[in-house]
Formats: sequence, C-alpha cells, structure tokens
Amino acid sequence: MYETWDLTIPEIPTRTRLYPLEPIGKGTPLVEGLTSYILRLADAHSVPVGILVNREVVPLRPAAQRRGRWKDRREPRSPTVSLTSYSINGLEDGPWRWVQALEAATLRKDLSQLTLLCFRGFFCYIHFFRRVRAWCPSCLEEWRITGKTVYEPLLWSLSLAKVCPYHRCCLADRCPSCHRQMAPVTSDSRPGHCARCCRWLGGADGDATTQSESIYPLTPLEVLRSEKLGELLACTSQLRGGVLRRNFLHNLRKCVGELFRGNGAAFAHFVNCPASAVEYWLRGVCIPRIHRFLQICIRLEVPTLAFVSNPSQEETVDWSSLASRIDHDRPVRRYRRKDETLRALELAVRERPSPSLREIARRLGYSGTEGLRGVAPEICKQITKRFENSFAPEPYHKGPRPRICAATRVEAALRKSLAQRTPEPVAQIAVRLGYASPSPLQGQFPDLCRTIHAKLVSGKKTRLKVMRRIVIRALDESPPPSLRELAHRLGYRDKKIIRRYFPELNVALIEHREAHEQSKFRQLRSRLQGILCEQPPPSVGEVARRLRLSSSTLWRRFPDLSRSIGARSPWRRKKS
Ligand SMILES: [Zn+2]
Ligand SMILES: [Zn+2]
Repeated sequence: MYETWDLTIPEIPTRTRLYPLEPIGKGTPLVEGLTSYILRLADAHSVPVGILVNREVVPLRPAAQRRGRWKDRREPRSPTVSLTSYSINGLEDGPWRWVQALEAATLRKDLSQLTLLCFRGFFCYIHFFRRVRAWCPSCLEEWRITGKTVYEPLLWSLSLAKVCPYHRCCLADRCPSCHRQMAPVTSDSRPGHCARCCRWLGGADGDATTQSESIYPLTPLEVLRSEKLGELLACTSQLRGGVLRRNFLHNLRKCVGELFRGNGAAFAHFVNCPASAVEYWLRGVCIPRIHRFLQICIRLEVPTLAFVSNPSQEETVDWSSLASRIDHDRPVRRYRRKDETLRALELAVRERPSPSLREIARRLGYSGTEGLRGVAPEICKQITKRFENSFAPEPYHKGPRPRICAATRVEAALRKSLAQRTPEPVAQIAVRLGYASPSPLQGQFPDLCRTIHAKLVSGKKTRLKVMRRIVIRALDESPPPSLRELAHRLGYRDKKIIRRYFPELNVALIEHREAHEQSKFRQLRSRLQGILCEQPPPSVGEVARRLRLSSSTLWRRFPDLSRSIGARSPWRRKKS
C-alpha cells in the first residue's frame, strides 16, 4: 500500500505579492495606461493608492542612476512618493523603474506595454502628457452599463489626444458634480471616480462637451490625430525599441525617393513641415516630434506603422501605389547641399553635347542660374563657353552637323502657334525646339513667322485700346483708384505699366488723386474745428473713431488740432 504513496513535494508556483491583474486592451487603441493599472491594483486590494504605492511598490523600485555631481548622493528613499502626474506612462528612466517594481510585485512580464517605453530614444518626451486627469464620459458609462472593468486608457493621458476615437467627443477634464479639475493620480483616486468628491465621472453622450474646458467645435484634424495616436498605441506590443530610429530613416528615405523623386522640399511642402526640418530628418540628425510624425501620416494617409515598422519585413505600405495622390504641379525648389551642386556641375562640364547653364539649372531645380554661379563661378563660365562653342562651325573632317529639329516638326509648331488666339512668339518656339535663336526658323519659314508676328502686334494693339478705355474711365471715378489698384484691374502687378503705355493719362491720374486728397484734407479739418467747439469735449481717441482714422494718423496729419482736442479732453482736465 505504501508503494502507491508519492512522497515528492509538488511544485508550487512562485507566489506574487500583489494580484497579477491582466492589463486591459493590449494591442488596441484603448490600451490601459500604467497609472490606471496602479489605480486598479489599489482598488482590487481595497487600499488607497498612496498606501499601496508607498508600502508595496516603492521599496521594489530600482535605485535611480545618478550621473555627474549627483553621483555620490544617495537617492532619497522618502516614505511617501508623490504620484501626481501621467509621466509614469512615459518613456524615460522613471517609468522604466516603476515598471520594474510593479513587475516584481505582480510577476507579470508585459507591463511595459502600458507605457510608451518602446518609443524610448525615438520620440522626445517633452509636452507628451496632460497635466490634469482626462476621460471620455461615454466610454466610462458604457463600461459600467455593460459590466466591463472600468479603467483609463493610455490615450487619455496624452495631451495630443483631444477626442475619444470611438465616440468622437471631446475628452472631459472637469468633474460633472463638483466642476473641478484634478491631478492624474492622487492618494485616493479610484478608476472612473472623481478624486475630489468621489462621484462617478461617466455620463451619456454629449456630456463630454459640458465637462470639457474646450468651447470650440472639434476640428477634423483633432479627430484624425486621436485616431492616429490610438493606432500608434495599438502597436506598442509589436514595436522593438532601439531600432525605431533606423527604421524611420529607412522608411522616410524610401517614401521621399519613390513619391517625391528624392525631393525633400517637395515632401516638406506636401506634409506642411519646414524644409530644413525634413532635411535634418533625411540626414538622420534628428527625429520629428510626435505631432509632426502624426501630421506626416495624416497627410500621406498611411498607417503610423508605415514609418516605424521593420523595412526588411513585409511592406506595410506600397509607396509607389500612393504616387497618384501626390500632385507635382507646383514646382518646389529642392534644397541641395553645395557639394552636391558642385558635383553635378563638374559632371555637366564633361557632358556631350554640351548643355546650356540654364538647362543644368532647370535639371537641378533652380529657378535661375544665379544659384549655380554662386557655387562655382569658374565652372559655370566653362559650361557657358562650351555651350557657345557647340554652335560654332565644326571642323570639316567631322562631317556635316546633325539637324537640331526636322523641318516638318518646326512647321507644325509654327502652324499650331498661329492657330491660337494669342500665338506663341517665334523666339519662344525656337528655344522650345532646341535652337539658340529664332533666325533658323525665320530663314526656313519666313512667311509663317511674319504672319505670327503680325497677329501678335495686332493683338497687342487691341489690348492697349481696351486698356486705355479702362484708364480713361478711372479718371472720372470719385474717389479715383490708386495706380496700383488700376494696374491690378488691367491684369498687371506693377503700376509702372500705366506710365509705360499711357504717360499722359498717368500724369492726369496722379493730379486727380492729389486734388481729391486735398479736398478730403480740407473737409476733415473743418470737421475737426467744429468738434473743438463741442460740449462735452470728446477725447482724441473718440474723435479718431468718429472720423474712421487711427489716433496716430490723426496726430500725424493734424498735430495742432489734435493737441487742442487733447487739452480739452475730460481725462486731461480731471488730471489737472
Ligand atoms: Zn469614448
Ligand atoms: Zn468631483
């Protein structure tokens, strides 16, 4: 009978000091925050948060690594630790020590997923968290009604998240009962309850707006930003800290290369970020702050994972398929380092057939050639010289020079221009087809070129006639328009256009305007003299408002009268 007895001691799993509560919402946008986990732990043990933290968690915290002149000092192990901010959900040394202590107490291994620790060394921690507690009343109410565990998602603690991504309402930060704000965690906090009056914080839809500080309507950007933040938090379990910087750099370069042909400035323009910042990101000098990071993902309409996932794994985003969304209509000057431009110029010197300097500037994204001349004036001179020489007669042994453009193509271009209402000038067509001047075209098709020129001249005559009529009509207006305004009406930006085509009308306009100004001045002066006799005497500011002028204009244009009005003003009399 004794043989059947098993005398080996059964293996007993290690006991935990605190209940190993399962974190809620792992892998979803509403993943629980570490602050909420602490609140729930205290609630489960029926003790205030302050007591649980100070008696059970603080003694297990690893000592802080002190550097520099703080090295020799011991960490103050005060019996009470103030737990008032959301920063323990963060990405620095402090949150890491809290996670270590709580994992030691609960023997869980996944508590770092309740913080942003995986973004350590990637995002900058400044301005990450709210200073006061925030919540979605609808979420809290829903969980209470459906009997789910009440907790506080990590998302609610982030200052960038203004909206609940599920209910699309503003997060509340004022207790509906006592109308006060509260610190994120206090000694007596309980999940879903006010830390000041202990009442329930949940409510029906729409309560959020009354409990929130914000009186402004939600913008679509705020909703999108909260959704993207949720998306980022949902993948904290998949991300490996440390390699995020490298992944980001790789993915960003790929995106800029495939969508914007490597033009960082065009990318910056599209995502609405400073071009210099993008240049730094592309060089790997720094990483965007979180709001910029979200802005990029929102603008490109890609998941946040697209920039932080491992590039060697299966692609999360097919960049080339996004190209249709990007419009390249607006040319954006590319930011280029000096040495890059220099290299391009050196290559261009050796190019056959020799390109013009303008052509090289166009290829490199410059609007003129000045930028190139600033980088390497000597090389630019060489390029220009080579380009000019390429038109000189070649030595006979090289055979006849090849045609620049077939005669049929030239003729087609000229006829097409002539068919237009405002034809393209011959010189412009010549440059477009690769000629340096219009003379080869004029030599080949003299009649066509002459007709185009005649059409252009007659078009200009008609245009000037219409313009003259507009200017003459403006002379009768009261008040007469300014020269700049009139130029705008004529379709030009520069007011000199009027003097250039209608010098006599320009003089008449100026005289007319001066006469008008003088009569206005006289009228104002007589009104001011009338005001001087008024009882009770008004102040200068009041007079200026009545005349629809600013006080400074009044003082500048009528210094003597302003002084008299000021002397009579009630304020001055009271003072004396
Ligand atoms: Zn909600
Ligand atoms: Zn309250």
